[in-house]
Amino acid sequence: MDANKKWLSIPKEIRSRLKNNVYCSNCKDAVEIKNFTVEDDDFGIVLKGKCQQCGQEVARLIENE
Ligand SMILES: [Zn+2]
Repeated sequence: MDANKKWLSIPKEIRSRLKNNVYCSNCKDAVEIKNFTVEDDDFGIVLKGKCQQCGQEVARLIENE
């Protein structure tokens, strides 16, 4: 399964919770990720995008169950 399909197979409510809870090292807080792409990772999938608040690059690993 490709990374994008894996992401879309996650229920919508959980996806939205994950998107709104990405750590930004600049804001030092959990932020919303924007303009993200979904990539494969050894442990699952990774969301890579920008912090909604400051624009810094942020990423979030979502491990396989
Ligand atoms: Zn930020």
